Amino acid sequence: MSMNLFGNWSNPLVIGKEIDLESALRVLDRFNNRCQYCRLVVNPTPHTPLGHFVICNRNTHSNSEPSNWVCLCEMCADLNSLDNLNGKGSFIELGWAKQGQINALLRVSYSVALRESDQWGDLKKASERFLNAIDTRPESWSSIGWDGEPSRLAEMMNQMIWKPSSQAYLHKLRFRFDLAPYEDAIRFWAASVESRYTNSFQALNVAAQQLEDGNGE
Ligand SMILES: [Zn+2]
Repeated sequence: MSMNLFGNWSNPLVIGKEIDLESALRVLDRFNNRCQYCRLVVNPTPHTPLGHFVICNRNTHSNSEPSNWVCLCEMCADLNSLDNLNGKGSFIELGWAKQGQINALLRVSYSVALRESDQWGDLKKASERFLNAIDTRPESWSSIGWDGEPSRLAEMMNQMIWKPSSQAYLHKLRFRFDLAPYEDAIRFWAASVESRYTNSFQALNVAAQQLEDGNGE
């Protein structure tokens, strides 16, 4: 399914305002509890029936008919609006990785960080390496005094001296979510994330290596 969320700012429907719980659960059911952007699958509980998922419109151009509703995890839903990203992380320049992939790698890294255990071993090292590597900022950003804050994105795009085509440059930006705003959700998702830890180990190391090598392009 093609989803055009990132860089296509709209506002997701927020559960409780526009949609009742029963309709929301139908949407989750239709998509097998899978985030339609990063592919995370949740196991909702009676206490958390939506599993930290949000119902959104498929894209900015679709009308808000139920047939256009999709379910996204809380992280991906925030990508639907630049305002929603304020205070929740920062932009990075990382054209070669998909945002959904970055979300998944951040989620597993945070999940390891939150769950104290002696058993993580190499996975803990891999996730720490990934978290370290992902924070590298392009030098051109420091020359214009930008740390990747969402609130100053438009201002910084205007300041860029070499003036790449704004649209082309936006396609190279990804969002590095912080842990704190999603801590409850990540604790809830940990069990689902855990079943994929083995695959994650490989993916974290590959991504860290590419980041350390400088963009991997
Ligand atoms: Zn997601």
